[in-house]
Amino acid sequence: MNKKLDITQVVDEHLCHSCGACFASCGHDSISFTESVGGYYMPKIDYDTCTNCGLCFEVCSGDHFGKTLQDIVPDDPFVGNLLGCEVGKATDETTFKNSQSGGVTTALLAQLLDSGAIEVALVAVMREDIPPRGDFALVRSSQELYASQKSKYTPIPLLSAIPELKNVDGPIAIVGLSCHFHSLQNLCDVYKWLTKKEIIKIGLICDRVMTASAIDFISMQATKEPVKNFVYRDKQKPAYPGNPVVTTADGSEYMLDKSVRMEMKDFFTPARCRLCFDKLNVFADVVMGDPHGVEGVDRKNGETLVLTRTQIGKELIDKTKNARYVVLRDVDQQSVIRGQGIAKKKKEWSNYVSAWQALGKKVPNYPFTPKIAQEFSKEKVNLLHSLSLDKYESKEKLLFDAQKHYTNKKLKRAIKRPLSQIKTIIRKLIKG
Ligand SMILES: Cc1cc2nc3c(=O)[nH]c(=O)nc-3n(C[C@H](O)[C@H](O)[C@H](O)COP(=O)(O)OP(=O)(O)OC[C@H]3O[C@@H](n4cnc5c(N)ncnc54)[C@H](O)[C@@H]3O)c2cc1C
Repeated sequence: MNKKLDITQVVDEHLCHSCGACFASCGHDSISFTESVGGYYMPKIDYDTCTNCGLCFEVCSGDHFGKTLQDIVPDDPFVGNLLGCEVGKATDETTFKNSQSGGVTTALLAQLLDSGAIEVALVAVMREDIPPRGDFALVRSSQELYASQKSKYTPIPLLSAIPELKNVDGPIAIVGLSCHFHSLQNLCDVYKWLTKKEIIKIGLICDRVMTASAIDFISMQATKEPVKNFVYRDKQKPAYPGNPVVTTADGSEYMLDKSVRMEMKDFFTPARCRLCFDKLNVFADVVMGDPHGVEGVDRKNGETLVLTRTQIGKELIDKTKNARYVVLRDVDQQSVIRGQGIAKKKKEWSNYVSAWQALGKKVPNYPFTPKIAQEFSKEKVNLLHSLSLDKYESKEKLLFDAQKHYTNKKLKRAIKRPLSQIKTIIRKLIKG
């Protein structure tokens, strides 16, 4: 009998995006997630209990788009269908202040839960642990939503919660990245019961995540003590877009400059994110992001960019506005597309796919092809670097090299500054 493909192949080809769909598909509890040295969060099969049914592979959008996804890809897959572009904020002050951008994501969920329009919301949270890591939660009341606010730039296997939704009778809302919604559609192709559920898809714009080791690296810049909570961007510290905040086990809080996250983004980017075209989350009903490039936005306190894609999304936005949970105003679609750098994204995506192919690697079967790039040496270097994160013997060695990389970057940046500033920076660097 021929052995069916399973999720191990996807992991070996570095195509897994840690969405959790394989876990949801496994009827034998044979899949668990483990964190690698590089901070990748990968499924592992227990072959003692695995029946080689092949479902974990079938639902994996890291490897492929299933039949429905192939059929519903929009004409411009980088932009997708747009019924409206708005910018605004949550009217509830606590929701707004605790949010990443303008709190509209949480306000939509609150309105849905308070009005009884949904029974449950599937959201991402940060698990307070040593070290802290991304996690997911099923939420049934708007009071529980605060813990899910703010962006976690880390892979979260959100779809692992899908089996728990089987017993939910009413409608459900899911807040997810594009990879979550790609695999959700693949799951729907396989599971009839899931197709019958009423699911509202609230997407986030996403250029990429960082592997979980980025949490350890950024924390390490603040303290050597064990860390139990981590915030990538706290817009109250001191203002939007916000700095990283690290809390140690004894409750001490440290704020870092946001440049740490920005400088180390490339270092910790998973290879799979480079191959994803779907920054604007084209299969969601409504999509949330930061209003980059949009004029007249409150850049001190933050606002959410809202892209409405479907009739379901439009009704949700209208109801939430009418119930006064949010205030939104129209913005120009072209400036939104420009502000999100979609032209650059198209070019980079083509270059990364060409570089991945040149490395002899399998490319996901998207139903459209990239422009064949002639020059992709930078992209090749970045991809090889992403793959190298898992080749370290230990996390300590990885973090040691990450520190060297960060110091070099800071020095390069410093050299471009006036002499007086250079002296201060060097003094600080020597101090440690
Ligand atoms: C990994 C990532 C990359 C992003 N990249 C961009 C970008 O390039 N450009 C841009 O304009 N915007 C980006 N965003 C979106 C932006 O950071 C805000 O999340 C968005 O503007 C919503 O803000 P809000 O104040 O309305 O949300 P809040 O009210 O603060 O609520 C945040 C919501 O995000 C969900 N969430 C947080 N992290 C994750 C995660 N890892 N996976 C799934 N759900 C999650 C939570 O469940 C919660 O519902 C990104 C977000 C993430 C998580």
